[in-house]
Amino acid sequence: MLTFVTKVNHCFLIHTTLQTGRIEIIYGCMFSGKTKELIRRLKSAKDKHQKTLIVKPQIDDRYDINRIVSHDRHSLGCLPIESSQEIINYSKGVSIVGIDETQFFDDNITAVCQELVSNGIRVIAAGLDMDYKRKPFGAMPQLLSIADQVTKLSANCHSCGQPANYTYRLADGDQQIMLGEKKEYEARCKNCYEK
Ligand code: ZN
Repeated sequence: MLTFVTKVNHCFLIHTTLQTGRIEIIYGCMFSGKTKELIRRLKSAKDKHQKTLIVKPQIDDRYDINRIVSHDRHSLGCLPIESSQEIINYSKGVSIVGIDETQFFDDNITAVCQELVSNGIRVIAAGLDMDYKRKPFGAMPQLLSIADQVTKLSANCHSCGQPANYTYRLADGDQQIMLGEKKEYEARCKNCYEK
């Protein structure tokens, strides 16, 4: 619900209108600034006193389990969630739901986002579009296809400095999900990825 106040003949009139739900996706490789952009949009909403719910998958405990944290250490408090369906339970009365590391959620996250939208909620979800093998990650392809607005971000290639869209794994291990930081991963352009 959005509230507007107008002044007519020295009287203040309060109007309320139902917010239209929408899905915004912020995506790209590691170190492309996805969480930083998510935090920027959520802070802007908080400044307008819009009620927000911020969640991330419970498995992401790299910095702080109760905060979403960008690589340049900006952060906001969040709720760690195990199953995407829990988001619906916590979203009563909120205008905006922010989701970080969306690629780690179960496939039901797409239906959850659609339900949030039908409840008039603005969903802002950030995530990796591809894993370290350049394969589509989790439910991100489905979410990108139903999104109202998408923002693809690039990093700087750690080898040559050109725009980079791929996440290169330095560490051993071939499982799709392996949490890591700059010791384990680099952003690379196509040429440097294939070298
Ligand atoms: Zn490069």
